Order: sequence, then structure tokens, then C-alpha cells
Amino acid sequence: MTESNDNLAAASKVIDKYGLFLNGEWRKDPSLPRLDVINPATEQPIGQIPCAGPSELDEALESARDGFEVWRHTHAWERAAVLRKTAEWIRSNIDLCSYTMSLEQGKALAEATREFGMAADHFEWASEEAKRITDTIVPARPAGTTSTLRHLPVGVVAAFTPWNFPALIVAAKAAYALAAGCSVILKPSEETPGTAMLIVQALQESGLPGGVLNMVMGVPAEISKHLLSSPSVNAGTFTGSTAVGKLLMGQAAQMLIPMTMELGGHAPVIVYPDVDPKKAAETAAGIKFRNAGQACVSPSRFYVHQDIAEPFTESMVAYAESLVVGPGTDPKTTMGPMSNSRRVEAANAFVQDAIEKGATLRTGGAPPKDQNKGYYFCPTVLSDVSDDSRIMIEEPFAPIAPIKSFSDSDDVIGWANNTEYGLAGYVMTEDPKRAAAVSDRLETGMVAVNNFFLAMAETPFGGVKQSGFGREGGPDAIDEFLVTKLVKTLS
Ligand code: NAD
Repeated sequence: MTESNDNLAAASKVIDKYGLFLNGEWRKDPSLPRLDVINPATEQPIGQIPCAGPSELDEALESARDGFEVWRHTHAWERAAVLRKTAEWIRSNIDLCSYTMSLEQGKALAEATREFGMAADHFEWASEEAKRITDTIVPARPAGTTSTLRHLPVGVVAAFTPWNFPALIVAAKAAYALAAGCSVILKPSEETPGTAMLIVQALQESGLPGGVLNMVMGVPAEISKHLLSSPSVNAGTFTGSTAVGKLLMGQAAQMLIPMTMELGGHAPVIVYPDVDPKKAAETAAGIKFRNAGQACVSPSRFYVHQDIAEPFTESMVAYAESLVVGPGTDPKTTMGPMSNSRRVEAANAFVQDAIEKGATLRTGGAPPKDQNKGYYFCPTVLSDVSDDSRIMIEEPFAPIAPIKSFSDSDDVIGWANNTEYGLAGYVMTEDPKRAAAVSDRLETGMVAVNNFFLAMAETPFGGVKQSGFGREGGPDAIDEFLVTKLVKTLS
């Protein structure tokens, strides 16, 4: 067997090996209902997960409360050591991790490896932050008193994570909650459970005490309702669509549970005429087609100055046509299938709608003819896309680059901001003054100029408007899981 066959064989056993994780133990109770996990490259099942019912969810809640009592009293240096070892575990098991993700989620191996590397970075960064939670003494009134502000873990955190970045997003939530001293009930996507299972295994082998992290899966709406209506949960965090975010906010409101919301995006890319159109298109395309476009910060609306619109479009088409579309686990693949059939249906509908509204299909636009199985969709470029096309309004989550040309800088900023979303925005220009002015005017939580590197452990990730609130990563991420308590004493 070759090394890649060995890795694939090991990865294909992960889902059935584990199960739910309750009170420090893996649970595969055969009496629980089960769900198939599908390989998006073949449409074949690759394992089954047990579904938690009310009694498993109650057990997770009780275990998390007990775990919180242990973990909040565990010294910050010990918490940090567990998180640091978790980062090391991921890095030293990177092949198993990457193949598992690629198998269940579809993305190309190189991307899966990079994503697990970023997840490890979050554990490492959070481990350092754990040691820097400091109390503050404020000059006190009346004389003879002391005001101490204590920054304490908020309690039990319910964390809901999606399928598009199944390692990164688990890490971006769990690492900071655990660093703060919280316990966590994790509900990963049922479509990508193996990746989450490996992260839980990493934490367990790194010394996380039982109960500090529980993992449940099953029917998402039932789980979120059960957890967010429990008095045992003190905070929640969700990444996913704006629609589901609003649903969870409504549930959390009944118990006044504070939530961190990392929701959808529809990132504009404004390309000014002073850049090299070929280089700009290649840089943008490298990110556009990553993860088959299924990323909340994916560049998803291209506004290109009319003077360079045609060469930019041609270079984007050339890049799209150079991608090798195939199973993510094949090392030759540079773009894998989409994660589920819902995305293929959505991609088809976006293309048809845009063409009906006047767009020109430059390449792609349909599943590849040589694949009769798997959720594949060709890398697609559309030009002359009108603003009323669905793809310019809804979050696309597809490997489709819609391009519209502009001539006036004020107009284009208006178009860029004319959306309910406000996650990421991109500017491409050689003029630093223009870059600063446009960055300032874009209504987004993040802006990148002449680059697309926004998701890093050391910088805050999050949006404004209906893209949500709260930040993951960066110096403030741990604050999402801390609560300030005033202690007033007589000195
Ligand atoms: P969806 O909107 O039903 O689900 C989105 C995510 O939320 C999934 O991971 C799902 O497991 C989870 N979810 C759904 N209902 C839930 C509930 N009641 N409680 C907890 N979690 C719940 O549908 P979908 O088809 O998976 O995705 C649709 C769109 O959502 C995508 O096209 C994309 O626009 C958006 N999305 C965004 C992100 C992101 O990173 N912001 C991630 C995944 C999906």
C-alpha cells in the first residue's frame, strides 16, 4: 500500500470508531438512531453517527456543569498546557486529520492540511491567552475601599459549528472558551463529524478532564432548542447561515443567553485600474475557488474597473479552467466537490438566474460532464452580471465568480455596501490613499488590501450588519467567554 492509501484507510475508519462524547467517554449506544455520513466525492456512506436524544443532551448538560467546576479551578498554566498539547497532537497527526476532513467534506487535501494547521494555531494562540487573563484594580471611592474587576469564565458554552471549515471553526470556538476556563458542549455539523471527533480526541489525549468538553450530534433544531432552553447553559456561539443564526438568537433570547454569531457574508472585491489585471485575477481566483467557494469570506462579488475588466475576466477564466476538479483525497486535485447536493442545486440556480438577467457565461456553469457521481460543479466565471441577479444578493457559497464592471468610485462603494451582509471586503489598488479611503468606507468587519489573508489565529475574525457579532481569534477572542465581576472590599 502507498502512504496515501494507508492514510485513506485510516481516515475511513474514524467516524465509526468514535461517536458522541459524554462525560469523558465515547458513546456509540446501538439503540440510538443513526445517521449516514456521505462522501461528497462518491455520494456513498463513509460511516454512521449516533443521534443524541433528550437523555444524552441532559447528560451532556450535567457533565458540562460538573466539568465547569473542575476547569474553572484548574490553574491557567495547566489549561494552557492542555491546549498547547492539543495543537501539537494535531500537527503530529496531520495526515489522518487532513484525509478525514477531505473524505467527509470534499476539500482538496492541501486545503484540509492548511485548515488543520490553522486550527492548531488557534489552540496555540488560545493557550497563550489563557495565561494573560488579568484582574484590574480601579481607583476606588469612597476612600478606604478597593474596587477589583475580576475577569471570570462565563460558564457552560454551547458551540454550534458548520461543515465548511469543520476544524477551523471548532477550534476558533472551543480553544478560547476552554482557555477562559469554560466548559463546552459542542455540536458540530452532522455532515462533518469525523473532523470534530479528531479534535475531541486530541483534547482528551492532551489531558482535558472528563466533562469539560462534551460533543453531541443529531437533529440540529432539537439539539439547539434543548441546550439553549437550559438554565445550565451560560453562553452560546454559532457559525452558519444568517437564517439559522436568527433562529438560535430567538431561542437564546428566552433564557437571555449571550451569543457570538459568525454568520454569512457576501464579500465585494473592488479592483481599480492601477493594478496588473492578470496578477490581480490570479490572486483573487486562488481564494475564490478555495473550498469550492464555500467560505463566508470568499470573494463573491467582483467589481472591476471598466478599463481592465476584460483582461481581468480572461485571466480569471484561464485560472478557473486550469483547476483540477476531482476527489479531495486525490493529491492531484486542486478543487474538490461541493460538500452536499444542496450546494450543487443552489449553484445551478444561481447561474441560470444570472444568465436570464443578462450575464454572460464565460466558463463552467454546470457539473463536469466526466463525473457522473459526486457533488461536483465546474469553476465558473460570469461577466456583465446585473445587480438584481440572485448571486449578487444572496450568499453564494459556490465556485462562481460573478463580475461587473464599474467606472465611478463612489458608485462602486455604494454597490459594495448595498447588502445585508458585512463580513469581509477586498480592495485591489496600488494607491495607498485610495486603499485607506475605501477600507474606511466599506461596511464590513474585515478588509484586506491586495491580499486575501483574513483568517489567522492572531487577528479578530467577525462581521457587522447581518453577518453577526463577536470576534474569533486575536487578542480579544477570549473576552467572548469571560464575564467581569466587581469585588469591592474595605482596604
Ligand atoms: P443551514 O442554513 O440549515 O445550516 C447552516 C449550518 O447551521 C449547518 O452547519 C447546520 O448543521 C447548522 N444548523 C442548522 N440548523 C441548526 C440548528 N437549529 N441548530 C444548530 N445548528 C444548526 O443550511 P446549509 O445548507 O448547511 O447551509 C446553507 C447556507 O448557510 C450556505 O449556503 C451558506 O450561505 C450558509 N453557511 C454559512 C457558513 C459560515 O461559515 N458562515 C457555514 C455554513 C453554511
